[in-house]
Amino acid sequence: MAEKKNNSYYDIAVIGSGLTGLAVSVDFSKRGYKVALFDSAETWGGLNHQVHSGSSNGLRWLAGNELGQKSLEFLSQLLDMDLSIKSHETNPWIYDSAQIKSFMGFGDAAPEFHRQYSYFLSTSLFSTTLPVADWAASLFQKFTGDFFSRSEITQILVEQKEVQSIQVNGQKIIQAKTYVFCAPLFELPPLMKNYEWGIKHKQRATKGPYLTALQLDLIHPKFHFDGYRMGLIPTQNDLPSLGFFQNPSPEGHQTSHWMTFVPYEQADDSEKLGEALKKIKRNIKKVFPEVLENKISERVLVAPFYTLLEDFFLKDCKLPDLKNFYLGCSQLQDGLSIYSCLIQAKAVSETLLRDLQKRDTSFEDVSGTSARPVADPITN
Ligand SMILES: Cc1cc2nc3c(=O)[nH]c(=O)nc-3n(C[C@H](O)[C@H](O)[C@H](O)COP(=O)(O)OP(=O)(O)OC[C@H]3O[C@@H](n4cnc5c(N)ncnc54)[C@H](O)[C@@H]3O)c2cc1C
Repeated sequence: MAEKKNNSYYDIAVIGSGLTGLAVSVDFSKRGYKVALFDSAETWGGLNHQVHSGSSNGLRWLAGNELGQKSLEFLSQLLDMDLSIKSHETNPWIYDSAQIKSFMGFGDAAPEFHRQYSYFLSTSLFSTTLPVADWAASLFQKFTGDFFSRSEITQILVEQKEVQSIQVNGQKIIQAKTYVFCAPLFELPPLMKNYEWGIKHKQRATKGPYLTALQLDLIHPKFHFDGYRMGLIPTQNDLPSLGFFQNPSPEGHQTSHWMTFVPYEQADDSEKLGEALKKIKRNIKKVFPEVLENKISERVLVAPFYTLLEDFFLKDCKLPDLKNFYLGCSQLQDGLSIYSCLIQAKAVSETLLRDLQKRDTSFEDVSGTSARPVADPITN
C-alpha cells in the first residue's frame, strides 16, 4: 500500500481541468461528493481556455447534429442554465472541377480523408446563448470542490487492481476513493507503470491515431460570401483544406478561417507545420486569390489531440482489472469536436455515479438540494 503522506482524502480526484475534467468535477461536486481537480497548467480550461489574441479563442464550430444536441443538453444540466440552442442553416461548398459547388455529402465513394472533414461540413450549425469561449469559465464557477493548479500528476499508483493514490509534482501523495483521468490519453501509459497494460490498449493509447488541426485565420476586406459558409478544397496529392467565411463585420471586414489536419507527431515540428501552412495558402490561392492578396492580418492556431481512435475495448469507461479508475479522455470518442469532451464526461458520470452508489449505499445524493459551500481554490 502506498504511503499516505497527507490527510487529504477525496471521494473523487479528477486529473485534467479541460472541458471534460470540468464537466465531471461539476457534476459530482454538485451531487455533494468531495472532489479534487488537478491541472499541471497555471489555470483551468485546457485547450478550451481563452486565447488572448483577437476576439475569440478559435472555438467557433458547433455542428448541428444529434451528438451536439446531447452534449449541449448535458452542459445545460451542469450549468443549470437554458442554453437556448438554435440551429442555423449553413451553405457548405466544395471546390470541384475548378468550380465552387454546393456540398451534398461524400456519398458512397467517400475519400479517405472524409472522417476528419465531415464534422465541419454539416448543413446546420448550433448556437447557444452562452458563447463556446465562456463554457469553461461558467463550469468552473459551478465547481465547489478543491482546484489545484500547477499540479502535474506524475504517477498513478496501482496495487491490487485499484489505484491507491496519485503523486503530484513528483512529491505529494493524494488519495481518493475514485480517480478520473481527463488529460490526453497518450500521457497515461508512462504514468501508470505498475499497471499490467495489455498490448492493444498500450499501443492504441500511445499511438492513436491522433491528429493536430492547423488553423489559419485571415482578416481581409469584405469578400463575396455573405453568411456562414464552410467549404472544402480537396487536392489529389496534397492536404485538403477547410475554409470558413464568417459574416462580414459592420466595418466591411470579413474573417475567414482555414484548417488542415496533420499527424499529431508533427505538432511540435515547426518545419512540418510550416509546410502544411504553405499548402493551406496554396489551396486558398487556387480558389480565392483575393483573400490572400488583400489580407489585413493573419494568425495561426494549433489544436492538438483530435482523434480517429476506434475500438479501445473499454467496459464502463474503465481499463480491464482496474476498479476505481475511469477514463474521461475526450480522445475515446471517435470524433473531431468539442462534443467528444461532453459525451465522454457524461459517459463517465453515469458509470461512476452507479458504481459510487453501489459501493456506498449510505451516501445521500444531494443534487438539486443544497450545494456544498464553495471551497477556496488551492494553489500549490
Ligand atoms: C484553437 C482551437 C480551436 C478549436 N476549435 C474547435 C471548434 O471549432 N469546434 C470544436 O468542436 N472543437 C474545437 N476545438 C477542440 C476543443 O477545444 C477540444 O476538443 C477540447 O477543448 C478538449 O478538451 P479536453 O478536456 O478533452 O482536453 P484538454 O483541453 O486538452 O484538457 C486536458 C487538461 O489536462 C491537463 N493535463 C495534462 N496532463 C496532466 C497531468 N499529468 N497532470 C495534471 N494535468 C494534466 C492539461 O494541462 C489540460 O488542461 C478547438 C481547439 C483549439 C485549441
